[in-house]
Amino acid sequence: MLDWNNYRRRTGLVIVLSGPSGVGKDCVLEEFIKLCPDVRRCITYTTRTPRAGEGSGKDYHFVSVEEFGRMVEDCWFLEFAEVHGNLYGTPRSWVEEERAAGRDVVLKIDVQGGVAVKRQIPDAVMVFLVPPSLEELDRRLRSRLTEADAELTKRLLDARSELAYISSYEYMIENDVVFGAASKLRAIVIAERSRIVSGH
Ligand code: 5GP
Repeated sequence: MLDWNNYRRRTGLVIVLSGPSGVGKDCVLEEFIKLCPDVRRCITYTTRTPRAGEGSGKDYHFVSVEEFGRMVEDCWFLEFAEVHGNLYGTPRSWVEEERAAGRDVVLKIDVQGGVAVKRQIPDAVMVFLVPPSLEELDRRLRSRLTEADAELTKRLLDARSELAYISSYEYMIENDVVFGAASKLRAIVIAERSRIVSGH
């Protein structure tokens, strides 16, 4: 007799959440984790200086450029990229272990990283956050006031090239109201969890 359990996904989902700088990925992710506390957020590595209130192991693992270089040589990263002048990387073993244990993970990474992950994990769920408008995106970036002037100009420009990657993604969510965007992400995760996979 047919056993439908053979058609269930065995590994955890890898959800890639990307979008232009300033779109509000952190706020949406925070709200989403409240709605789906069983999805685990990957703490990635960066050479960026911590901002006020950020802590190592909480927001990122903050490492020196030298340490990051050694980790690249040791193939520590599933992907790594230079974003807005700093290095960022996703720990390979953490993602693989969580996935193998059947736990769903979310990677909040830039578009270069997203594309690299999809190449290695073809069933990664690709979600792209968009702003209600470009004007609103610029307003959000400016209101953050965490970036020095030169950094802000770079992020405003980078945001436009980041948007061009949308065709590499599978789902688009407009971040108009944070709770609404987080709820849509939850709906996507529920749908993906229900996906029938070919029999094992
Ligand atoms: P921020 O410096 O504002 O925290 O992050 C800058 C950008 O780097 C964001 O788009 C963020 O999603 C991305 N990012 C964070 N961690 C990683 C990572 O491990 N890999 C890649 N490719 N991008 C990352």
